[in-house]
This record gives sequence, C-alpha cells and structure tokens, in this order.
Amino acid sequence: MATIGGIRAPLAVRTRWREKLSRYFPECAYVRCHPHGARLPARRWRGLGVSLRDKWYCSPRCLLPALERSILELLPAAETAFPHRRRVPIGLLLLQRGVINEDQLRQALALQQEHREGRLGDWLRRIGAASELDITRALAMQWGCPVFPLERDQGYRLCAGLMPLTLCQTHRFLPVFYSADRSLLYLAFTSGVDHAALYGIEQMLACRTLPCIVSESAYAVALADMENSSAPAPEAMIFDSMRDPFEIAHAACGFIQQLEAQSVQLARVGRSLWVRFLCHSGPRDLLFHFPAS
Ligand SMILES: [Zn+2]
Repeated sequence: MATIGGIRAPLAVRTRWREKLSRYFPECAYVRCHPHGARLPARRWRGLGVSLRDKWYCSPRCLLPALERSILELLPAAETAFPHRRRVPIGLLLLQRGVINEDQLRQALALQQEHREGRLGDWLRRIGAASELDITRALAMQWGCPVFPLERDQGYRLCAGLMPLTLCQTHRFLPVFYSADRSLLYLAFTSGVDHAALYGIEQMLACRTLPCIVSESAYAVALADMENSSAPAPEAMIFDSMRDPFEIAHAACGFIQQLEAQSVQLARVGRSLWVRFLCHSGPRDLLFHFPAS
C-alpha cells in the first residue's frame, strides 16, 4: 500500500508526489541499471547524472548503450536522406537573364573541361563575363533562397557562440542571423545549400534553420573577422581518425565524466558528427570527421 508519511494517500496525490519526486530524483533510463543488486533502477538527484534526448541516465556507464545506438543511427551517409534535386544549371540561368552570351558560356565551359577543375561561375568571372554579384545572385536563384548582405550586416558576430568555427570552415557555411524570440537561424552558404547541414544544426540548436547565399569574398572576410574576434566561437576538439561508433561512444562517455557534463547532444552535419556536452561552465564540443564515401 503506497503511503506518504505513513498515511495512505489518494491515487491523484500519490501520482503528483511521484511526478515531483521524478523531477528532482529521476529513475535511470537504462533498463539494466540495478545498482548494488537493487530491484529498481537508480533514482538519484538529477544533477548527478547525464541526459540524452529527454532521457536521464544515472552515470556515463548507463548512458553508453543509448549513446552507441544514437551514434549508429546518425552515421549512415547523411546525403542519402537529402537527395540532390536537379537544378537549372548556373550557366543557363545567367544566359536567360542576359548576364552572359552564348559565346562566353561556351568559352567558360571549354576552359572548365580543359582544366578539369573549378566551378563554371569561377571561369565566367575569370574571363570577365560575369561579376561575383552576378554569380551570387544566380546561385540564390538556383537554390531558391535569398542573398544575404554579409558585406554590410555583421549579424554573424552575434551568432559566434552557437557553433564551433571549425564546423563552419569545414562545411563552408556561416550562421549570419539568429532570432532567439522566433527560434530562427539563417545559415549562409557560398556554393550551394547543404540541406543535411541545415537539418543537423536544427536538431542540435532546437531552432528552425533557413538557407541564404553569400559571396565568396564576403564569406572569407567574415570568417577572418570571426577568427580574430575578441568573442571567439567555441573551440572544438577534433578527431579525424576515430570512425567506429562504439569507440566514439566510449570516448564521449570519458569526456562526460571528465567535464561533469549534465547533458549530451548529437547531430550529423555533412561528414561530421557533432557532439556537444552541456556543462556548468558552458557547452563543450567534439567533432568527428568522416571521409567522403
Ligand atoms: Zn543507471
């Protein structure tokens, strides 16, 4: 018979009491958590354990199997979930808009084929057929998103704390505008929108992400500015050779113990697995880079 203070309580009171107890002293979500041979999972003060996806675990040891499963779910190629849609070629867009003529397009295509490198837009710029602004506008049309005026809007400085700068540099994007009230983040790209990256960041930061296009030169200036900023983006520990999900989960659990992290979050951003620990001192990040498949 369930009692509170030795007195049998009505069901509603007992339920409320259990809910309150669970808020401060939750049960470990690991089904095999039976400390010291106890019949029930550990119920401890929340501040001692670690959370992953709304579930609480009493220790990194109990978290490990769930972390391994989460990493295994995230590792399959993110690109397969966001197949590339066929888009109007940039040369054709520029031709239709009267920015370039057929001869210029033929010349740029021939140069690209001859050198077997570089984007068509770069070759069009090299032969003087189009400006950087023309290419940026055409890219935005191609991807159906706006051009962000990064040259005159330094809103990206206010986004510095959102993610490690290395993640931006590796995947060639930059957070340029964030509204906490609307829970909205604009992510700028220079050569095309990476929908997998948008989705991963949306999951990690629990906000809506929208793409925009910026010019290569403005992007380079903003990155240099961020690198030299007095309020730099969080630094991440980078792992280039660790690819086994179980090894990654073990390593992450080691950091949880070392950092006394209260929560761990995971996201797949392109060929990187982004692991973020929420600690008393603020967020700490790990990045695991995977080779192109
Ligand atoms: Zn446990």
